[in-house]
Amino acid sequence: MTSTPADRCADPGQKLLAVEQARQRILEAVQAVTAVEQLHLRAALGRVLLEPLVANIDVPPFANSAMDGFAVRSQDCSGPTPTELEVIGASFAGRPFDGEMVEQQSVRIMTGAVLPQGADAVLMQEHVKHQDGRISFDGTSVKSGMNVRYAGEDSRQGDTILEAGIKLGAAEIGLLASVGVSEVRVSRRLRVAFFSTGDELTAIGTPLSKGQIYDSNRYTLFAMLSKLDVECYDLGVIPDRREAVRAAFQQAGEMADLILTSGGVSVGEADYVTETLGELGEINFWRMAMKPGKPLAFGKMGNGVFFGLPGNPVSVMVTFYQFVLPTIRKMSGEKEREALLIQARCLQDLNKAPGRMEFQRGILNRESDSGWSVSSTGFQGSHVLSSMSRSNCFILLPAESSGVKKGERVTVQPFLDFD
Ligand code: AMP
Ligand code: MG
Repeated sequence: MTSTPADRCADPGQKLLAVEQARQRILEAVQAVTAVEQLHLRAALGRVLLEPLVANIDVPPFANSAMDGFAVRSQDCSGPTPTELEVIGASFAGRPFDGEMVEQQSVRIMTGAVLPQGADAVLMQEHVKHQDGRISFDGTSVKSGMNVRYAGEDSRQGDTILEAGIKLGAAEIGLLASVGVSEVRVSRRLRVAFFSTGDELTAIGTPLSKGQIYDSNRYTLFAMLSKLDVECYDLGVIPDRREAVRAAFQQAGEMADLILTSGGVSVGEADYVTETLGELGEINFWRMAMKPGKPLAFGKMGNGVFFGLPGNPVSVMVTFYQFVLPTIRKMSGEKEREALLIQARCLQDLNKAPGRMEFQRGILNRESDSGWSVSSTGFQGSHVLSSMSRSNCFILLPAESSGVKKGERVTVQPFLDFD
């Protein structure tokens, strides 16, 4: 990552950088934070596990019944005539039957109860006649292992049940509890500072004066970051003044692992934004082969990694999805994972000129044949934030594409992380 004076403006003559190439350059340049925290299981929700987790016990810890019914020995049940067995006791969940079953005996058993010694199958109570301490049933249907859940079927003692780099969601938190883990070692939360730049921006709660717009990007960023379980530092709206910009960048660089700004990276911005960035960090200004989101700054500033996102609200969300999200994952210690992409039939023509990859906003619907179809939200201006709200996916149109005809298949990226 270098920054020469020539890099410090998004030179219109500069070659466009492909999305995938930019993502690779970014991910190569960032490292995971190494600080570890040992947290109680509940507090670890949303965090990234830093070391593989090995189960110390089998789950289930003992063979048990998958049904309410009767524990039997399958070798007693092979006869073609109705089999009859004596019922010698009961095994309840948490209250096992203590004795051993021998020939021609059975034990009443509930779901989750320990399989009595000697038994190797469970008959569903619906398939059994129970009367006067005896059961009778069709013995031919009984197979060894029937309705039995064996020890270790879920997790096995000594096995790695979660790899390092896994983000702990509901299933993982439950899984850890199932093997008796009460504390886990996870990476500390990433610190992310962000601010908006622009003299035209007014904070919500204040009337707009002429030429002003409300600052929405800070709220979009806050919302996306909040879903990612990072520590957010909102540094507000920074006016287009050299000293204010410089101070904000400096403050952000001291406190954050990741600094996000919006606005001020396109051609024609007041010089001091790019000037300040050049002085304070090693920043690259890229003209991305993407739409929306053409201008993007990326580099190092202070102790942190810096993204200068474009100002247009849709561009903020698109570049966040494509670049900031994988960066946050990597910096948090998460293993890289591929975006979930699906194929869908496009319900209308989509206009596009070859040259830049487009992230059009789409509405994905299930089709009756269990496939998917997608339609456009309409006007695709990068300032039309309502198009993001109406959509549930990006329609990904490759750089070389010159548009889509109704009925053709397109690749779609559903919004999964920020609902
Ligand atoms: P810029 O990249 O600063 O030239 O901004 C591009 C466009 O995005 C302009 O129309 C800005 O007014 C708009 N914009 C910049 N920052 C914000 C923001 N925080 N909220 C809403 N719109 C913004
Ligand atoms: Mg601006």
